[in-house]
Amino acid sequence: MSTALVFVETLDGKIADITYELLDLARRVTGDGGTVTALAVMPAGLTSELGAADRVLWADNPDNCYLPESLGKTLAQAIDQVSPDLVLVGNTAVGMDVATYAASRAGCSTIASVQKVEPAGQGWQVESVILGGKMVATAEVTELTILQVLAGAGDAERGHVQGNPTVETITAAEAAATVYEGLAMPDSTDVDITKQDILVSIGRGIGDKDNIEVVEELAEALGAVVSASRPVIDAGWLPKSRQVGKSGKKVKPKVYLALGISGAPEHLEGMRDADCIIAVNTDPKAPIFDVAHYGIVEDILELVPALTEKVKGA
Ligand SMILES: Cc1cc2nc3c(=O)[nH]c(=O)nc-3n(C[C@H](O)[C@H](O)[C@H](O)COP(=O)(O)OP(=O)(O)OC[C@H]3O[C@@H](n4cnc5c(N)ncnc54)[C@H](O)[C@@H]3O)c2cc1C
Repeated sequence: MSTALVFVETLDGKIADITYELLDLARRVTGDGGTVTALAVMPAGLTSELGAADRVLWADNPDNCYLPESLGKTLAQAIDQVSPDLVLVGNTAVGMDVATYAASRAGCSTIASVQKVEPAGQGWQVESVILGGKMVATAEVTELTILQVLAGAGDAERGHVQGNPTVETITAAEAAATVYEGLAMPDSTDVDITKQDILVSIGRGIGDKDNIEVVEELAEALGAVVSASRPVIDAGWLPKSRQVGKSGKKVKPKVYLALGISGAPEHLEGMRDADCIIAVNTDPKAPIFDVAHYGIVEDILELVPALTEKVKGA
C-alpha cells in the first residue's frame, strides 16, 4: 500500500489543470488501497475541487502569494508529516522552483520532465525526457523521490472530482529572504496568437533579430501573425505574448509554419494540435518533422524571401 503526496498548483486564485492531472496519476500509480494526500497552499473555498485526494493539507493563502521559498519549505514539511513514497509536482515554472527547493531540504532526489510513471515491483518505473527531448531516460524509483511531471502524463478530467476529502489545516512556512510584490499579467495589448488562423513561427534558426523582418513580410503576405519559440522571446526579439509552448501559449491555428524550430517537447506542447504543421529546418533529423504534416529541409533565410515573392505574385 503506497502513499503519494501531490503538490497543488494555483494561479490567480484558481487550481491549475496540472494539479488534476497529478491527482489522476497519483490515484493510478498508488493503486487499490493507496492513499493520496494533496498539499494546497491556496485561498479558502477550493478544497472540494480536490475530491480525487483522500486528504488535503491546507494552508490559507488569501492573496495567492507565490513565494517558492515558502512553498518549497512547506512541501518539505509536508513530506516529513506524511512520509509519502512518492511526491508529484507539475513540471511547470512553479513546480520546478518548488520541487528542487523541497528536495534539497527533504534530502531526497527529484526527477524533472517525467512523462510516464508505472508501478513496477516495490516501486515505480519512471520515464523522463532529457537533452531537449532527444532521449528518454528510464529510472527505477524505490525510495522517496519528487517527480516533476509533464502535462499530458495524467488525465485532468478524471482527476477533477468534486468531493469532501479530509482537510487538515496547516501553516505555510515563512519566506525569510523573499517578499511577494504582486502578480504581473502579460501585456494584453498585443495580438492574440491563440486566435489566428495562420501563424508563422520562428525559432533560434532565425539567427539574428534583423532577420525577423523577412519573416514579417511573409506573414503579412499570408495574412498571418509572427509567433516564436522561447529562445527568440528570451533574446528579447519578440514580446512574451508571442511565445508558443509550455511556458507560452497553446495555439491551434489552421496552419502553423515552423521556421528554424527544432521541436523540443516544451514547444510541441503548445502547437501540436494545429490543423496543418509545415516545418522548415536545415536538419532532416529535427524532431519537429515527427509532428509536421509537411516538411522542407532548407535554409529559412533562403526559402522565406522566395516564398514571400511567390505568395505576393499569386
Ligand atoms: C520549463 C521549460 C519551459 C519551456 N517552455 C518553452 C516554451 O513555452 N516554448 C518553447 O519554444 N520552448 C520552451 N522551452 C525551451 C525548449 O526546451 C527548447 O529549448 C526550445 O523550444 C528550443 O527552441 P528552438 O527550437 O527555437 O531552438 P533550437 O532547439 O536551438 O533549434 C533551432 C533549430 O533551427 C534549425 N536551424 C538553424 N539554422 C537554420 C536555418 N538557417 N534554416 C532552417 N533551420 C535552421 C536547427 O537545425 C534547429 O533544429 C522550455 C523549456 C523548459 C525547461
